[in-house]
Amino acid sequence: MTRVAVLGAKGRMGSESVRAIEAADGLEVVAQIGVDDPLDLIASSGAEVALDFTQPAVALDNVAWCVEHGVHVVVGTSGFDDDRIGVVRDLMGETPTTEVLIVPNFSIGAVLMMKFAATAAPFFESVEVIELHHPAKVDAPSGTATRTAELIAAARAEAGSAPLPDATTTDPDGARGATVAGIPVHSVRARGFVASQEVLLGGEGETFSIRHDSHDRTSFMPGVVAAVRAVGQRPGITVGLDDVLGL
Ligand code: NAP
Repeated sequence: MTRVAVLGAKGRMGSESVRAIEAADGLEVVAQIGVDDPLDLIASSGAEVALDFTQPAVALDNVAWCVEHGVHVVVGTSGFDDDRIGVVRDLMGETPTTEVLIVPNFSIGAVLMMKFAATAAPFFESVEVIELHHPAKVDAPSGTATRTAELIAAARAEAGSAPLPDATTTDPDGARGATVAGIPVHSVRARGFVASQEVLLGGEGETFSIRHDSHDRTSFMPGVVAAVRAVGQRPGITVGLDDVLGL
């Protein structure tokens, strides 16, 4: 049995994860940590793996604690940009013994959407990302949209793609959206959505859309369970589920 501590266990993703992990073969939840609980509970429960679904403001400290105490950690919390990854890398040193697996999106469909978007991006002149989430989401753009834009930009740079065509010269209200790694990203916050994203590609005389919709938080659970099972096999920092899924 792999012993798992869930941080943010009373939250929307944390509570769903507790249920999924307890139902999974070979995994058991030994600590459910909320906002008022000391992180020492991770050590005293004998957890080998921690899963963090807290808030961007505290997740980095949680990860640092886990690294310092030799606990492998799966990070689902948003906001692990290059700066934060750099902090974790410095903490781990040159010969890491633990793994920090940072997963911007646990949904298998979303992982495939990102993969397909990066594959398609060099074949089209234009590409934009539209992400649509529930109005309780506090950060924009989503971690998935940021990661998608970065993957698209990297694929286009490697292929030597031309800059995106865009004749806009005035946009005082930001109607063209944010720019992430040179890719326009648009964030919609509307009741009724859980997590959706569309990647719009355009070429001469054709458009191509890659769309993914999470209708329910259960869509993240197969990825959560796979990540918790796999973490620890590659000491150091891993970003995304691609390796875990063999993509
Ligand atoms: P949520 O419902 O607000 O849950 C967060 C939980 O963490 C709350 O119960 C909160 O307690 C608790 N918490 C805050 N500080 C803590 C601390 N220091 N130690 C332990 N627990 C603490 O949010 P959510 O919807 O579950 O989302 C959590 C994070 O996951 C967000 O960053 C979200 O963007 C991200 N997310 C990622 C994915 C993915 O696929 N990677 C999918 C969905 C969401 P209080 O409410 O008492 O403050």
